[in-house]
Amino acid sequence: MLTDTHAHLCSASLAGEIDAVLARAAAAGVSRIVTIGCDVESSQRGLALAERYPQVWATVGLHPTYVTEEPAADWLESLQQMARHPKCVAIGEIGLDFYHPEPEGWNWEDYVARQQTCFEAQLALAAAYGKNVIVHQRDRSGTACWEALKTVIAPWQGKLRAVFHCWLHPWQEAAAVIGQGHLISFTGIATYKNAPEVAACAAAAAPGSFMLETDSPYLAPVPHRGKRNEPAFVRATADWIATQRGITTHALAAMTNATADSFFGWAGPNQGNHSWMPDEPCRQFPSSTSLPSPSLPCLTSPPVLMKSAGASPLRPNVQEGLQRRWNCSPSARLFRRS
Ligand SMILES: [Zn+2]
Repeated sequence: MLTDTHAHLCSASLAGEIDAVLARAAAAGVSRIVTIGCDVESSQRGLALAERYPQVWATVGLHPTYVTEEPAADWLESLQQMARHPKCVAIGEIGLDFYHPEPEGWNWEDYVARQQTCFEAQLALAAAYGKNVIVHQRDRSGTACWEALKTVIAPWQGKLRAVFHCWLHPWQEAAAVIGQGHLISFTGIATYKNAPEVAACAAAAAPGSFMLETDSPYLAPVPHRGKRNEPAFVRATADWIATQRGITTHALAAMTNATADSFFGWAGPNQGNHSWMPDEPCRQFPSSTSLPSPSLPCLTSPPVLMKSAGASPLRPNVQEGLQRRWNCSPSARLFRRS
C-alpha cells in the first residue's frame, strides 16, 4: 500500500533485525522500501538486501559527507557496475553538505570542491544510465548549500529528475523545483508541530510532485518522535499528511505510489515485477552485457568553488531534530562501516 522511498536499512542501528523490521513494515501496509546507499559498501549491502527481499529496492551513491573516505580511483567505477543491477532504482544519496566541518587534513574549499566534483560525476552517471537521483542537501545556517546545489543541478534539467529528500524549505522553493520537473519528499518532520513550513508544503504539493519517506533510522514521525525510526513508521507520516490534505491515507498512498512508480521506473516494462529474485547469490551483480558503458567525466577536472554566506538558521526545533539525527553516531556520519 505505501512505499518508504528512503530508508537506511543497512544502518548499524537496524542490523540483525531486518526480518522483524520488514515484518512490521508489511503489517503497517508498507509494501515497498527503497534502501539508500551512502558509499560503495552500503550500496553493495543495500543491493544484497534487495536481492534477498522482493519488497526491497536499492539506490547506489556516494553521500557528500563520505567523499573523502572513498579511494579516488575506483569508487565511481564501482557505482557504475552497481547501477546496472536490476534492483538499483536510482543514484543516491548524493548532493552537497555544508553542515559538517571539513575532515581532518582537508581545508574547506577543497572539501566543498570534492563534494561538488563527486556530485557532478554521479549526476553524469545517473543520466548515462537513465536513472533519477536522490539528493541530500544541508546547510549549517543560511542557504548557501541550497543555492549551490540548485546551481549544480540546473544543467541537468530534462536529463534526469531529482527528489530533494527530507524537504525542509519554504513552499516558494518547493514550487520552483517542482516546476522544473523534480520531486520533493517528506519525512516525519512534516508531523512536527515546530515545522509548519514543511507541513504547509505537504498540504500544498500537487499529486505527482512528492513522495513519502522515513529516512529511518532517523527522524521518526509523531507519535514515534525520539525513537529509532523504521519503515513501518512511514504510515504515521502518511496518516498525518492525508489528514492535512483532507483525503484518506489510502488515497494518499495511491497518489504517492504512482509518483514513486514513475520516479523509480517501476511503471516501465519489466520494472514492476516485485517477485524478482536473483539467479546468483547475494553480492553477485549481473554482468549486464546488454547495457551500455557510458563514459563518465574525469574526476580531476577543475572544480568550481562555492563560498558559503550567512543567512537565517533553521528554526531551532527543526535544527534540534536534525541534530539528533547526526548525534546517532559519534562521528556525525549517517552510519559507519561496521
Ligand atoms: Zn538518507
